[in-house]
Amino acid sequence: MSIEVKNVIKTYGAQNALNDVSFTVEPGNIVGFLGPNGAGKSTMMKIITCFIPQSSGSVNVCGYDVIENPIDVKRQVGYLPEHNPLYLDMYVKEYLDFVGGVYKIENRKARVKDMIDMVGLEIEQNKKIGALSKGYRQRVGLAQAIIHDPKVLILDEPTTGLDPNQLEEIRGLIKNIGKEKTIMLSTHIMQEVEAICDKTIIINHGQIVANDKTEELQSQQKNQIVLTVEFDKLVTVGELQKIEGVVQVKNSNNNIWLFEIKEDAARNNIFQFAMQKEIVVLTMQKETQSLEAVFKKLTA
Ligand code: ADP
Repeated sequence: MSIEVKNVIKTYGAQNALNDVSFTVEPGNIVGFLGPNGAGKSTMMKIITCFIPQSSGSVNVCGYDVIENPIDVKRQVGYLPEHNPLYLDMYVKEYLDFVGGVYKIENRKARVKDMIDMVGLEIEQNKKIGALSKGYRQRVGLAQAIIHDPKVLILDEPTTGLDPNQLEEIRGLIKNIGKEKTIMLSTHIMQEVEAICDKTIIINHGQIVANDKTEELQSQQKNQIVLTVEFDKLVTVGELQKIEGVVQVKNSNNNIWLFEIKEDAARNNIFQFAMQKEIVVLTMQKETQSLEAVFKKLTA
């Protein structure tokens, strides 16, 4: 296994950020790590990359224990942390050369050049990092993460804040790198997971709530229709549950509700219910992304 996480607990003071987390990642896979804000994604990634220790449980990367063999783990792992911390006053080439030096890479000049070619930084290579756009900064972040040729890459929200073009470019780059490496990436974007991830792990409140092939998770949802409905007035969950054809209903936010319905016809029943109660249906939206529906269902 590339990554083996067993019964990991992490507490920050009195708070349990990770609560008995176990999963494995097989070599060569691209795994999507999904969860709402505060679910524990960054904490798990920091433990895998030896940035912080777990409170209990064990984590192995390519057979090395993160507590007993952190140097070996760091040799096998490349890490792009959330918010991509870079030295903005350094030049691109200078920075990559500096990172190469930290890893004691032989033939550093050639390796830096290879990295610049691989992530498409040729035009920007002589600029200061602070002068680069967010998309190019992410490329520098990816280059520093792979410069020592690690087997495993941990990417914490690598596409957050990118414009649609940059997003597509970085996604393509990750997919390309993933042909040769095991990748675990956290993201909020379901389409990203659907587009590039073989497996999906969903975490909520520090616990794993789903762990399967992405296509398996998508197919779980095929026979269910999920609707987001916003009313103009307060209603009770008891009233909504009585509507014919409604399997389940959960409050999402104020007057916004998440319905799981048996068949399309139940949409009509929701409108009828609203009319009878003199409530206005402000929006009714069918969830088209099946993974998004699974995510909402498991983490609402
Ligand atoms: P995510 O990456 O899924 O948004 P995090 O791993 O950052 O979640 O956080 C999980 C929980 O742990 C959150 O409730 C967060 O507030 C808490 N947490 C994270 N880092 C610290 C810290 N250094 N000290 C105290 N609490 C923390």
